[in-house]
Amino acid sequence: MKTDQLLTRRRALLAGAVAVGAAGTAGALAGGLGEEPVRPAAPAPGPQARRPLKPSAYRLQPLTGHGAPRTAPGRTPVRREPLLRMTGRGRVMVLTFDDGPDPRYTPDILDTLATYDVRAMFFVCGEMAVHNQDLLARMSEEGHVVGNHTWSHPLLTRLTRRRIRSEMTRTSDVIEEACGERPRWFRAPYGAWNRAAFHLGAELGMEPLAWTVDTLDWTTPGTRTIVDRVEDGAAPGVVVLSHDAGGDRSQSVRALRSYLPRLLDSGYHITVPRRPRA
Ligand SMILES: [Zn+2]
Repeated sequence: MKTDQLLTRRRALLAGAVAVGAAGTAGALAGGLGEEPVRPAAPAPGPQARRPLKPSAYRLQPLTGHGAPRTAPGRTPVRREPLLRMTGRGRVMVLTFDDGPDPRYTPDILDTLATYDVRAMFFVCGEMAVHNQDLLARMSEEGHVVGNHTWSHPLLTRLTRRRIRSEMTRTSDVIEEACGERPRWFRAPYGAWNRAAFHLGAELGMEPLAWTVDTLDWTTPGTRTIVDRVEDGAAPGVVVLSHDAGGDRSQSVRALRSYLPRLLDSGYHITVPRRPRA
């Protein structure tokens, strides 16, 4: 996506800010809830409507442990920073694919995941999803987690709260239409979070998930480089960011075919996260 290229520098800066925030300045984004009355949290499906995630001893936590969960049980907490990794014992990793779905690449990725019986997360954009609902349905049917990555992939920090709400809500609507349930995870484009994104995400019943290892596959650095970045970054709890849309993603497709079996051979359990306890 051209926007991606143009925003490279900005993106790098923001990614740095996220890392710093997670390392020790939790609370920097804390503060008032804003002016608008908050709708009753979570347009929530009841517990019985929730897709049971694979049993796992692992759960996601912000690096700092400052979750700021001051909401009633069962509701989604308003966080001050996105979740970056999973905590827990053992060699567990999460693979995430952003900006899709794209019929040129997403089916290949789904095929590879199916070959190895592995579940992943797809943070989809509404404007892509609305034309590819069959792919969303397939993701869901095959046990993958479909998350909300906004409608048009804007830099949320430049938008009004009203626009952010629209970007998020419309996308959740399409996901619900295709998958039968609303998304429970949200990822801000470019990793650019702000207070409104955290509040609106929680209001819509979604936890914010960032990543631990960025493959930078959208710069098309070569399949080998993408594989190396995943394998060099592999560690317990790591969340890997890749892309299945937004440009030529054939390198990302080929890289997955290479690193996935190697991660599994190394003893990693590739899974999707369960929602952290508030
Ligand atoms: Zn993205």
